Amino acid sequence: MMRAALLGAAGNQPLQRFITHHGRRFGAYRFVAGETLDEFIAAVRSANARGMRVAAGLLGEDVRSRDAAAAVAREYCDMLDRFALDRVDANVALKLTHLGLTIDRDLALANVAAVAARAAEHGNFVRMDMEQSAHTDATLDIYRGLRARGVDNVGAVLQSYLYRSEADLLALLPLNPSLRIVKGAYLESASVAYARKRDVDANYVKLLELCLHRGRFTAIATHDDAIIDHAVGFVERESIGRDRFEFQMLYGVRPKLQSALVARGFDVRIAVPFGSQWYPYFMRRLAERPANVLFLLRSMWRG
Ligand SMILES: Cc1cc2nc3c(=O)[nH]c(=O)nc-3n(C[C@H](O)[C@H](O)[C@H](O)COP(=O)(O)OP(=O)(O)OC[C@H]3O[C@@H](n4cnc5c(N)ncnc54)[C@H](O)[C@@H]3O)c2cc1C
Repeated sequence: MMRAALLGAAGNQPLQRFITHHGRRFGAYRFVAGETLDEFIAAVRSANARGMRVAAGLLGEDVRSRDAAAAVAREYCDMLDRFALDRVDANVALKLTHLGLTIDRDLALANVAAVAARAAEHGNFVRMDMEQSAHTDATLDIYRGLRARGVDNVGAVLQSYLYRSEADLLALLPLNPSLRIVKGAYLESASVAYARKRDVDANYVKLLELCLHRGRFTAIATHDDAIIDHAVGFVERESIGRDRFEFQMLYGVRPKLQSALVARGFDVRIAVPFGSQWYPYFMRRLAERPANVLFLLRSMWRG
């Protein structure tokens, strides 16, 4: 219930203005690496120094004008140039609504194609995050469209809370895809998504095993100990090479677990978001864990 309330509160304008204004004080920077590219690069260097790769995310979603969507695509291209110039180990993860998906599917396709082309110039990679289920078909169509054009340095994401994801995974396998498996972060209805954690977790394991066996590359994106232990046992039993998967976690979430996996010789990539539009992202992180809400309340109380 708290999760639903927090995800609902993400659309509350006065609350948004209040928390955004006091963001630093309310602990948003625990999950967000600052508002500028320079602050972000410092966070990437620090992650790289700890043996971790980075997936860079420019915060924001659902832009409403073509110009704004094109500007976001240019920002991603600039980021990719900067990664190459600074020789940091980071790729990008973007949201198609940030590139204009809700305005026009072809616009989002053109924008993500431009970012992928710039990434290819630098030998780099672009992952398309998965958003609300209303966008799943369009997102997967764009992924297929890119692959049909011969764009191979792109990957998609499947959410284990959606009933449809197993069918989506099976349909994508002929493309030899690079997929990130997540549980899913949005508020979805019982008509499309499992509500019980144990069903979401069981489906995660099913998707994970399928993808590890038959996909090109699997990003195991979770902080869940039981699933991570299962994945480690599975890749060892099935002799799946370490070049065929990596663990992914969010910036600021379970840093000791991140380091422990690096110490065991696994590839770990940290999703590091930055930018001024951090409010919806922050609210989703709070919704994932009651302890994070206590952390927010304590920050508010201390002033
Ligand atoms: C790299 C990455 C990329 C993602 N991309 C997407 C995407 O494209 N689309 C999408 O819908 N979702 C995405 N997510 C979010 C994902 O769907 C989940 O909402 C999120 O990862 C929490 O689920 P979990 O797998 O960690 O398991 P949970 O069962 O939620 O958590 C397992 C344990 O991890 C810890 N934990 C989890 N979340 C937090 C937190 N916020 N703060 C502190 N501790 C926490 C707790 O100890 C918890 O008990 C992504 C997640 C990661 C790690």
